[in-house]
Amino acid sequence: MSDPAFLAAAPGEPAFVVQHLIDPEICIRCNTCEETCPVGAITHDDNNYVVNADTCNHCKACVAPCPTGAVDRWHAVARPYSLQAQFGWLDLPPQAVPAAGMPAALPGPIAPPTAATPTVQLYGRTTPATATVLSNRRATRTHLHDVRHIVLDFGGQRMPLLEGQSIGILPPGVDERGRPNVERLYSVASARGGEENGTNTVALTVKREPSGLCSNHLADLKAGDRVQVTGPFGTTFLLPQDPEANLLMVCTGTGVAPFRGFIEQRLRAMRDASGALMMFYGGRTPEELPYYGRHESLPAGFLDHHICFSREPGLPRVYVQDRMRVSADRLQLLLLAPTTHVFICGRKGMEAGVEEAFEDILRGCGGGWAPQREAMRQQGRFHVETY
Ligand SMILES: Cc1cc2nc3c(=O)[nH]c(=O)nc-3n(C[C@H](O)[C@H](O)[C@H](O)COP(=O)(O)OP(=O)(O)OC[C@H]3O[C@@H](n4cnc5c(N)ncnc54)[C@H](O)[C@@H]3O)c2cc1C
Ligand code: SF4
Ligand code: SF4
Repeated sequence: MSDPAFLAAAPGEPAFVVQHLIDPEICIRCNTCEETCPVGAITHDDNNYVVNADTCNHCKACVAPCPTGAVDRWHAVARPYSLQAQFGWLDLPPQAVPAAGMPAALPGPIAPPTAATPTVQLYGRTTPATATVLSNRRATRTHLHDVRHIVLDFGGQRMPLLEGQSIGILPPGVDERGRPNVERLYSVASARGGEENGTNTVALTVKREPSGLCSNHLADLKAGDRVQVTGPFGTTFLLPQDPEANLLMVCTGTGVAPFRGFIEQRLRAMRDASGALMMFYGGRTPEELPYYGRHESLPAGFLDHHICFSREPGLPRVYVQDRMRVSADRLQLLLLAPTTHVFICGRKGMEAGVEEAFEDILRGCGGGWAPQREAMRQQGRFHVETY
């Protein structure tokens, strides 16, 4: 942790303090930052998520989990903005001092060093792209568990997407206060060249949530329908382009979406890469898992795939962390290799069990999991996206 950084003032000029702010234009009001902040510095009203300058200690714990990057704003101000002022904003006020006067960037999440440079926020809430639905089919075995595989076409609009990024979908209509509904984020489930290579399309994996506004809007779309899209979002949960990179992918449910893109891009661009692909994929039952069984069409040996279920009738409950412990020897080698990247994606809260499994697997090896994870984080080799 560091204290708020005071900037040296030029003689005769007032000193500035760096204030942590949230950009209301891109914040999707998902509450993740408020849940994450260890000192309760983030709060919200019906309008905005805001940061209390008296409480925030600039620890940056909220930055990595924020799916849009809206929380990662640092302004130099002569006097901190009050909560009331921030509640009233539609967008951020301009910086009070030029960027050259700002202190060095505080440490935050780091992308894999070899990842391609992502494009972000080309389209906002008031300037969305319009995509046409090419297809919408079920990615699960039965209609009782409806997860959709939806392909969108951006036509002539520029939409450069990298594997691991997300796009926002704006549900039509207004909220209870009459304001346009805020977008929901969905992971890109295709590779950068589009669902069909060489097309300006993207695939999404969308779980229909009971009474969910946007997931039902998407799940009900027919070919030819139009949707409003914001983004792209995401600058760190990205595919490393190094062919020697081992990818250790751990996911539950729709958390498989970005890994579908990772695997497809490795197939298209790095089919003979020496880096290993290992995936642990968990769900309640086979019927609920999107793309269940599809890995079987991959070339033999391309993906070391481990699948497990926690609610199969008559069978013991097996979670991804249990399945990982079964492969402890292989995982130990992978975790200690300098070219391994860990990606965790899926249900919020799944990280705790996965972390415990890593602790068990590296117990007695070198310094154990905690320092290894910290080193991997600093090297852009440890990534979590849960929602
Ligand atoms: C970075 C990121 C990536 C994501 N990627 C994906 C992805 O690839 N696939 C995916 O499916 N999702 C993904 N999500 C989640 C997605 O953004 C939405 O949160 C999800 O689809 C639910 O949105 P919704 O509008 O349908 O539900 P909301 O209307 O926002 O409702 C939220 C929750 O409340 C419940 N709810 C709503 N109304 C009621 C009610 N009256 N009574 C009881 N419960 C109610 C809903 O069931 C739902 O669970 C991602 C989220 C993030 C942050
Ligand atoms: S985590 Fe990011 S997008 Fe979510 S409420 Fe906080 S600032 Fe907004
Ligand atoms: S930087 Fe740290 S203290 Fe400040 S709002 Fe984020 S998590 Fe809370």
